[in-house]
Amino acid sequence: MITQTSISYYGLGYVEHAEADFREMKAHGVTQVILAVTEFDFDFWRPSIPAIVDKARELGLRVLIDPWGSGKYFGGEQVSKFLQDNVENRQVSALTGERLPYACFNTNSYRDYFRNFCTTLARECRPDGFFWDEPHYAFPKGIASITGGVADDWTCYCPVCRKRFEDYYGYPMPRYMTNDVKQFRWREALVVLSDTSKALKEIDPKLEITCCVHATQNGYYVSEYRGYDNWDMVGACPYFDVFSTTIVNWALPEDFYLDITRRTVAIAKKYGKQSERWLMGYYKQPKDFSQVGRWVDLAAAEGVDRLAAWTYRGGYGTVVGAPDALKLWDTIGENYKRVVSR
Ligand SMILES: [Zn+2]
Repeated sequence: MITQTSISYYGLGYVEHAEADFREMKAHGVTQVILAVTEFDFDFWRPSIPAIVDKARELGLRVLIDPWGSGKYFGGEQVSKFLQDNVENRQVSALTGERLPYACFNTNSYRDYFRNFCTTLARECRPDGFFWDEPHYAFPKGIASITGGVADDWTCYCPVCRKRFEDYYGYPMPRYMTNDVKQFRWREALVVLSDTSKALKEIDPKLEITCCVHATQNGYYVSEYRGYDNWDMVGACPYFDVFSTTIVNWALPEDFYLDITRRTVAIAKKYGKQSERWLMGYYKQPKDFSQVGRWVDLAAAEGVDRLAAWTYRGGYGTVVGAPDALKLWDTIGENYKRVVSR
């Protein structure tokens, strides 16, 4: 049974404009807005954010804060103030040693920065929760094939990660991705999210945490190894309430979407969480718009608890807008209204 239908929203400026957009979301069957708060928003639009959260809630929408693209560690198109202000604490390529434009989330510098960002917003606003949006290591992101990996390079080989690895395992961090390196990356990747989620629940136990990871196959031959591909480890984190997996392009086979959906629900059930599946509500659209309804029905039939789509108005007016952005938005809205039960 679909109990929540979400849409993401970046329009964090003027509360009266946001109000009109929230009313439009309500008319599209949306129950929950995922506020994409950038590092720039946090620094510049801070006075507006609590007012916007309050307005959404006043209109009957739940609100989750998404630290959108923070450190370029989370998914998203925006720029990172952390990277602008810090020349250290970046992820480093294991093979070339180059410092990359991604914050290393295993450094205390970024961990402190991120926790402060979230706990400050939790204290100043009254959101229903937070949304961890596609957290990831920079590499690899290529899909390996059965004939070998296309993504041999990986992160993070920065001084902090290397020292922590050596302190734990008692030998220098290899440049090749061994089983110890995989385990180290999975374990360390969860620390920043667990610690911040725990800190948020200490501020308000009712704050709900959704962790949304990449929708990857994670099979015998193919895995992305971006840090959150071990779904059992993510699902087992006691501070997460909702296990969510990201968007699958409409052009991919329905079997792939079905497989991701089934495994998402299975992990959520195994660890006593709610499950959430995302729909592509920007950039690309199905050849036949009835596919939206079919994939929504498929998710509901498989026992998904929540549906979500990126983004408000199909990305209208941005470089990632769908060709018929407003039609895609309307189609998602019609389907949200059809299936949501509250
Ligand atoms: Zn590192």
